[in-house]
Amino acid sequence: MKNMKKKGDIMTNTGWNFDNSYARLPKLFYKNMNPTPVKSPQLIILNQSLAKSLGLNPDKLQSEDAIAVFAGNKIPEGAEPLAQAYAGHQFGHFNMLGDGRAILLGEQITPQGERHDIQLKGSGRTPYSRGGDGRAALGPMLREYIISEAMHSLGIPTTRSLAVVTTGEGVARETYLPGAILTRVAGSHIRVGTFQFAVNFGSADDVRTLADYTIKRHYPDIKEDANRYLALLEEVIKRQADLIAKWQLVGFIHGVMNTDNMTISGETIDYGPCAFMDTYDPATVFSSIDEQGRYAFGNQPYIGLWNLTRFAETLVPLLHEKQEEAIKIAENALSEFAMLFQSNWYAGLRAKLGIFNEEKKDEELIKVLLDMMEEYRADYTNTFRALTIDKLENTVLHDKEEFKQWYQQWQERLNRQEESKEASLNLMKKSNPAVIPRNHRVEEALKAAVNGDFSVMERLLNILSNPFAYTPEQEEYCKLPEPSNIPYRTFCGT
Ligand code: AMP
Ligand code: MG
Repeated sequence: MKNMKKKGDIMTNTGWNFDNSYARLPKLFYKNMNPTPVKSPQLIILNQSLAKSLGLNPDKLQSEDAIAVFAGNKIPEGAEPLAQAYAGHQFGHFNMLGDGRAILLGEQITPQGERHDIQLKGSGRTPYSRGGDGRAALGPMLREYIISEAMHSLGIPTTRSLAVVTTGEGVARETYLPGAILTRVAGSHIRVGTFQFAVNFGSADDVRTLADYTIKRHYPDIKEDANRYLALLEEVIKRQADLIAKWQLVGFIHGVMNTDNMTISGETIDYGPCAFMDTYDPATVFSSIDEQGRYAFGNQPYIGLWNLTRFAETLVPLLHEKQEEAIKIAENALSEFAMLFQSNWYAGLRAKLGIFNEEKKDEELIKVLLDMMEEYRADYTNTFRALTIDKLENTVLHDKEEFKQWYQQWQERLNRQEESKEASLNLMKKSNPAVIPRNHRVEEALKAAVNGDFSVMERLLNILSNPFAYTPEQEEYCKLPEPSNIPYRTFCGT
């Protein structure tokens, strides 16, 4: 009867059910180590619905023992904590990186048999910390929580946030700030930079081992393909073309699309300097260090391809025994990206305009609208929202002659399709969020939270949990910030 108590039994314990496949990779890829314990952990926020979907018991997760796990003070049964090694091109420059302030506890196997990385971010120094303190501050960890969960609710593949705890310790930034640890959940943390690390610091066998591991974990369907490494490249290109199109469709600016911040799973990762755009302008940049606008809104698809090209380079030795042939194969696969991205993006924009079928002239209709939005500095989200609810009075486009013409053409376009006006409206409602995490709202919530009032953040999270609801309560959150002469700025490594 000794084995009656199952490891992941949600009734009798928190439900942790770890497997540690990453820890079976060659030692080169990680350092076994525990998080550095902290003084006095306190639970700030727990994602109850995510906990449940992971097979965890939300009530038990609020016990002192469970909070100690989120703080890195206790290692849950079955976990084999480690810091992952990776490299990456940061703003175009290659560097050795790695988890400088994160520890992977292991992979939670859900009751459905899914595998998710459970990682503590802000958990202390590691051999990859370089000059950093290995820690994180409360504001930025809650910011990641809010935005990553908003992205999830918008239907965009992303890492997620299970919990934030404060550490009871201060972190030194420009001033002393309350320290915190975020528990991040991800399909995996394998990055383009993980492959770059393998190529630069490992052997040919290490690259192959990593590629086979990645295929098994994320793309099991291609395992038997004649050239499975080409299939891997094609799949990653597809996922990124899908992901980046989704970003563009909601006005999300990642802000630091370094190759170490691009996942092989196709999930959005690294919520440092990201932010949503208000006014439509492809040149929008929020990150304080992105002086050249490398990661500006309109550049994201091009940077996506640049990063995928770095990924393809790591696979060259696996694609064909002759290098020349391998390069041709890689180039051919990469040449698909632009078409894939564009077709996702146009499909998304058609849906945003309530259009079901395809007409060649749709591209022109879309271009004219976006050009007008740029010229008259229209709010991106609210323009599509106004078209959806047909309340254009308060938009800057409303009284413009060329907009009236465009509107006429759009109506004619809708009349040319078989689907009813009602069906179009429903499609628009599903495709145009009424609310996004607007910067001033996020800042307001963080300011209150850091001062001990979590109600503003909870309300914001609630509003963002169904961005397509179009409820009266959401209206307040559609409002733009007061005009300001100080541009909104975001930061890395906070
Ligand atoms: P990021 O800009 O967040 O993608 O981080 C780039 C690299 O810096 C990664 O290797 C991080 O682990 C590392 N890093 C960021 N902040 C810290 C910190 N406070 N302490 C140690 N390493 C850090
Ligand atoms: Mg990063």
